[in-house]
Amino acid sequence: YPIESIRNFSIIAHVDHGKSTLADRLLEITGTIAKTDHNKQVLDKLQVERERGITVKAQSASLFYNYEGVNYLLNLIDTPGHVDFSYEVSRSLSACQGVILVVDANEGIQAQTVANFYLAFEAQLAIIPVINKIDLKNADPERVEKQIEKLFDIPIDECVRISAKKGTNVETVLQKVIEKIPPPQCNTADPLKALVFDSTFDHYRGVIANIALFGGEIQKGHKIVSAHTKKRYEVNEVGILTPNEQPTHKLYAGQVGYVIAGMKEVTEAQIGDTLFLYKQPVEPLPGFKSAKPMVFAGMYPVDQTEYNNLKSALERLTLNDSSVTVHRDSSLALGAGWRLGFLGLLHMEVFNQRLEQEYNMSVILTAPTVPYKAVLSSAKLIKEYGKAEITIINPAQFPDKLSVSEYLEPTVLGTIVTPQEYIGKIIVLCQDRRAVQKDMVYIDEHRVMLKYLFPLNEIVVDFYDTLKSLSSGYASFDYEDAGYQAADLIKMDILLNGNPVEELATIIHKCSNGYEGRRDTNSMASHILRDHAKVFLVGEVGKKGRRLKGALE
Ligand code: GDP
Ligand code: MG
Repeated sequence: YPIESIRNFSIIAHVDHGKSTLADRLLEITGTIAKTDHNKQVLDKLQVERERGITVKAQSASLFYNYEGVNYLLNLIDTPGHVDFSYEVSRSLSACQGVILVVDANEGIQAQTVANFYLAFEAQLAIIPVINKIDLKNADPERVEKQIEKLFDIPIDECVRISAKKGTNVETVLQKVIEKIPPPQCNTADPLKALVFDSTFDHYRGVIANIALFGGEIQKGHKIVSAHTKKRYEVNEVGILTPNEQPTHKLYAGQVGYVIAGMKEVTEAQIGDTLFLYKQPVEPLPGFKSAKPMVFAGMYPVDQTEYNNLKSALERLTLNDSSVTVHRDSSLALGAGWRLGFLGLLHMEVFNQRLEQEYNMSVILTAPTVPYKAVLSSAKLIKEYGKAEITIINPAQFPDKLSVSEYLEPTVLGTIVTPQEYIGKIIVLCQDRRAVQKDMVYIDEHRVMLKYLFPLNEIVVDFYDTLKSLSSGYASFDYEDAGYQAADLIKMDILLNGNPVEELATIIHKCSNGYEGRRDTNSMASHILRDHAKVFLVGEVGKKGRRLKGALE
């Protein structure tokens, strides 16, 4: 395949707007998978994805398509829609020159539509707007086209109306991909330059790295070097994903595929790494910004004898999910473990479920906390810590008032898209969560986009569920990191039979209602204390403190 006949693209959209279903149809049309009635979200391969009906991993597939007498090689990447997995989307885009932006013809533009559009726009990718689900009774593609024009400045006549479910007009999408997305700009004659944009660990074959070739070619027997570790490997196998691994003789510049090269340790396969040929070094590609964890929780083996097994399971799973950060940690009650950073609570749940399902590991997770900061008050302390500001990812290590001149809490800029009749309730909810309004625009006559600056801890636990229920499911929410602000923080100890239990402590804001403490206490305690018949918990805030009581069966 000459470079002019290669197209690399992602499908991006809000959750449930039909990305994975569109991917199914594209796989069928191109004969990549057989056409049957059973193809449902074929690229959602993980058990957790099938059970929850959501995509959590970006997944690529190579398609072959003949258009006007020319054979094209199309590399598609299906991506997740939920904000907790946006790191998957941004990495996928680095292997692409364009995107299909899917919008539901009934729901219209939602919060993640906006977020994903900007990811693609900022990466300067070609954008093909597709309006999906036109078969629905309430579909209003015209309204959605107007929204797209208003918010994204894309002319109405560029939108393609389809039904991914029925297959209506899906062929037009492929033709647009060929016409509007440019082929990759690189050269097979250049030295090999391959970006590792994802990897998985296979028990028998070791690391399987997904790569995008920005120059040169790669084949079995080549000696390659990792720019990150400087280690040398011999290539055992290269191939493409169709969507299962299919070995090929070579991979060429512009292609997306996989390489297996005898990397046995997960630490050797760094996402964002550049691979090049031995003795033909290249300038490494910029790689990826590391993901910024939004919530931290302690993870411990249920039984300490499982520690080493859990350690290797964690290493392998974090290879496939590089947005998780891992630090060693320990606690009196729970023994040796780790403090993990996640992009959100859904991410934390999914990660935990994958540990169980793919690695047969059950663990104890402690209450989640956001990364607070403390500005140290004395020169002595600054010297002791080696810095003026410390990050608190474990409530047990909350520094007391005397050693701190100021506490800081993380904030996010939230985007809410809602039908106008719910605005009143939503504004009240946001005020309850200490949020400050930044913007409010009508995206059409009936729908509004609100922007609020939120303290992160006010949204991680139950904000999304509350928003959904008070808007009958119609409002959507997305957020991005917005730095830190000063905050009046206190540590809430949980007393068990009169003694504080370190693992149950949480950090809260003086003004919050304690709902967070109550909730987490219950779920956490039920983990640790499930053998006890009945336990009374008392949450104690500061010295005098509000008291929270709860009986657990
Ligand atoms: P994703 O989250 O964007 O990947 O969305 P999915 O592909 O998983 O689809 C979400 C839901 O929408 C599923 O129940 C699909 O069957 C349904 N769906 C997808 N495309 C269409 C369509 O064109 N018409 C209708 N009626 N439903 C669709
Ligand atoms: Mg999906």
